Order: sequence, then C-alpha cells, then structure tokens
Amino acid sequence: MLNNVIVINSLIEELISNSDFAEAAKQLLKDQKKSWKQLHEGYKSLKEIKIKTFQFDGFRMKLQFNPGRYISTSAEVDEKSINDRKCFLCPTNLPEKQKGILCEDEYLILGNPFPIFPEHFTIPNTNHVPQQIKSNFTLMLKLAKDLSKHYVILYNGPKCGASAPDHFHFQAGSKNFMPIDDDFHQLKKEHGEILFENDRITIAAVDDGLRRMISFESIDTEKLVTAFNNFYEIYSSISCNNGEPMMNIISAYEEEFGWRVIVFLRDKHRSSHYFAKGDNKILLSAASVDLGGVCITPLEKDFDKMTKEKLTEILTEVSLNKNSFELIKQKFDKAILRLKI
Ligand SMILES: [Zn+2]
Repeated sequence: MLNNVIVINSLIEELISNSDFAEAAKQLLKDQKKSWKQLHEGYKSLKEIKIKTFQFDGFRMKLQFNPGRYISTSAEVDEKSINDRKCFLCPTNLPEKQKGILCEDEYLILGNPFPIFPEHFTIPNTNHVPQQIKSNFTLMLKLAKDLSKHYVILYNGPKCGASAPDHFHFQAGSKNFMPIDDDFHQLKKEHGEILFENDRITIAAVDDGLRRMISFESIDTEKLVTAFNNFYEIYSSISCNNGEPMMNIISAYEEEFGWRVIVFLRDKHRSSHYFAKGDNKILLSAASVDLGGVCITPLEKDFDKMTKEKLTEILTEVSLNKNSFELIKQKFDKAILRLKI
C-alpha cells in the first residue's frame, strides 16, 4: 500500500539511515518542488503573500494573507461532511506525485502543497485513525527531537483547526518562523506564572490577554509525559467538550535545553467573526500556527481590514475562558506536587 508513496532516493535513504530526519525532510521538499507541480506552485505563491505585524506587550502577532489556505481555513469538519468526502490523508488517496518519508514505521513525512511556513510538512499516521493527542504525545516529543535541526512540531485538536479530524496527523514547520518561538521567554516573564519548577522540569501558565497556555519545559521525556497526562486529566474534567479537551500544541526541541511544549487551551473552534454576515465577516479559523503568532487570512479584504483590536477579539473568543483557566491552574498546581516529578 505504501510502496507508491515512500520516496526511493539514495541521498534521502542515507540521511535516514544516519537518523538525520530533518535533513531528509528538507531534501524531500527540494525534490518535490521539482517533481510535483502543485507543490511547486504552492511555494511559488508563498512569495506573493502579504504580511503585517502587530506589536503587543512583550510579544508580536503577524497576519499573513495567504490565498492558498482558503480550502483549509473554510474546511467543513462536521461528521456528515467528513463522512461524505474521501480522506485526503490516507496513503491510497494521496496525489500520484506526492512522496513521503516513512518514520517510526507508522508515520509519513509529506511536503504540504499549501504552505504557510517557508518549509511546511504534514505528518499523518499511515492508518486511518482519529486525531487525538493522548496516545501520540510521546511520539510528538520524538518527532520534535528528530526534526529539531530545522523544524518545530504542531498539533491541532479535532475541534481546534485540524482539517482532517478523522485521520491522525501532526504538522512540522520552519523553526523560528512563528513569533512565539522567539517571544516565549519574554511572554512567560511578563504574562506568566510558574506552576511548578525543579531542576528537571518547569511548568508555567501564561495569559497574555489573547491566548491562554500551559507550557512544559524539560530535558526528561518521562517527566514531560507524566506532567502532560496529569494536566490532560484535569483539563478533561473541566472542559465541557465531548472527547478530547480542546487544544493546540507547539513542540520544539533544543539540544541544550530539551523540549518546550506549549499547549493552547480553547473554548471554541471558530469565533463569531467567522460566521458573521457582510462586512463583519472575517475568515480566520485559528489553529496552532495562528496561536503561535502567524494568523492566516485567505481573503485579502480580511487582511486589509484586520486591526489589533479585532485580532484580540477573535483570539480571546476562541481561547479558554478566564474562570476555567483559573480553575485548571488551581487544580493542576495541587496535583503536580503529588506527582513527585
Ligand atoms: Zn484517512
């Protein structure tokens, strides 16, 4: 089933055998730009995009006008629409020219033909299994480390911007492209609160007025998994959402410091602006990359009319409400002490 998809190329094979997945992925994208027209066009149009930057207190948010993202932004993700379409992440349904790198025997690294990042990948499971983070968190850490030379890993919850909630996938994108990659330290200092810290792990809660996040920083996989699982249980008990509590995650790895996992807590999939009529309508469907500070508007008129205030309104509306956030902080604060991490 996978033979037609997996890339056969001596350079990439050599990089993989040296466990240099980041360089192998980079090479895959280079090859795909030559061999797959759709992807080539997607990266070409990335040169035409417009960007504007809003400065907030201690952090930046960018706005990217990117018409190539229209289908993804406006994707219908209700059960009926999902059941009625052919899954575009199943290996048998991938475009003929799309090739991938198999990792962990279960995941494909694929070039994303509708890029936001200068280098952008989709990493689906080879099987049609639902989007859920709990059983895939350890893998997220592994991928973040394996690809850390060039990329960060992103996860969108099934009701938080994942365009295929029925087929498990991560994304990977160029490191230091999202403002949060650089701004997080400052963000934590100015708007954060340390919930727990010892010489192995730091857990913080950040509320910058637009977004509400819990961050985990550690060099120790086991401690990260234990802390995340505990947080997940607490968040599940408070979130009224059926199934996975609503979240987006950005995970990065540095040899010197280990992992930084930022979890964005959510109340809504899309804000009221998305559903508004006429001039009030703004097509922005927040996912990890938007919360990481690169907000995507596929329509130019939305890009032109966006203000700092409107953006604040949109992101505040989709982020977890203040009361629930406070409750999670309190519960988590107590629970961590019992974990002995
Ligand atoms: Zn599928």
